[in-house]
Amino acid sequence: SVTIHATTHDYDVVIGKDLRNKVTELIDSDYTSILVITDDKVETHYLNEVASSLKENFEVHTAIVPAGESSKSMRMYEKVLDRCVEARLDRQSLIIALGGGMIGDLAGYVASTYLRGVDYIQMPTTILAHDSSVGGKVAINHPNGKNLIGSFYNPTKVIYDIETIDTLPESEIRSGYGEVIKHAFLSDEGWSKTLLEVDIQRVTKEQLETDLTRGIHVKASIVEQDERETGLRKHLNLGHTLAHAIEAELGYGEITHGEAVAIGLLFMMKLSEEVVGAELPVKEFTEWLKKNNYPLSLLSTLDSEHMVERMLWDKKTVGQEINFVLLKKISDACVLNVDKKEIVKQLNLLKAEVS
Ligand code: NAD
Ligand code: ZN
Repeated sequence: SVTIHATTHDYDVVIGKDLRNKVTELIDSDYTSILVITDDKVETHYLNEVASSLKENFEVHTAIVPAGESSKSMRMYEKVLDRCVEARLDRQSLIIALGGGMIGDLAGYVASTYLRGVDYIQMPTTILAHDSSVGGKVAINHPNGKNLIGSFYNPTKVIYDIETIDTLPESEIRSGYGEVIKHAFLSDEGWSKTLLEVDIQRVTKEQLETDLTRGIHVKASIVEQDERETGLRKHLNLGHTLAHAIEAELGYGEITHGEAVAIGLLFMMKLSEEVVGAELPVKEFTEWLKKNNYPLSLLSTLDSEHMVERMLWDKKTVGQEINFVLLKKISDACVLNVDKKEIVKQLNLLKAEVS
């Protein structure tokens, strides 16, 4: 397991097999009751096993929300809080987020606000959630922008049963690799090269486990140095400025987060070449995205000026300048203000190239 040294407390990320059936052994016996929050897809696969294990030692309640990004909403936040009240959760209660990043963000935000904060544990079940379950950022979406309402709130533990990703559909493997490759671009040229040879349809378990663990180490090392995103942590937004604009534009759930990030990373590369004169594997990355069926063609449906307006809504934006994380080279990121006109121009160029 990996230990994360957060400002509020240290917590372990336990990665292993069959943890869903042994989860009760990994939890402090002092908790009075537990609320497991999950979505209706993850429920069908794993809720029974997790709840059975927990029931050996605890009073267990459940809250099940519809699967999909649209549940990361104020409405669903309120509904889950209602469950907390109904179940009479107290300060000694524990919330468990069983699911992907949507559940982690929603349940974590509930945990951070209910009774001014109760403990919570992340049980990620997607590849993408190797990223979202670590680092303590929790949030819900506003119709105008992703993650506009949220807080910094660290879990007390992350329990990652690697076997749960066996049931993921291909589109979610693709999505997860969007964030994995971001972590590689931020940290390691050799790893990035290896990833650009991965075939999403044929990726082995061993490869997956290695990549996830590596991604967690990169994320951990960055958030440990800058938990509150005053500097270095901004680098984790690599590819996200365009990604968030695409997600808000298409409607939450119309594209997976990681697929949007992958497209955002390609745009970031083009922009980096133009703005900081970087030399990056743009051609290789474009081919990899195409080969693995990332939805590049949707770029042509987006209006560039309008996307820039969306970027101005992003909470990381200060005033009218658009902050971009760019790469000087693989593993060397920087943050720059980029002129609106330049962004429109480069987006139009990219649209023309990939269509
Ligand atoms: P998700 O939680 O919506 O899961 C994707 C889909 O897979 C859902 O339909 C879900 O029901 C299903 N699913 C989950 N686990 C499964 C399993 N084991 N088998 C079969 N199906 C399964 O999405 P996600 O991609 O995991 O997470 C995306 C969210 O994470 C976004 O909201 C994004 O903003 C957020 N995020 C947050 C952070 C952070 O630091 N807090 C970082 C990255 C992403
Ligand atoms: Zn992300």
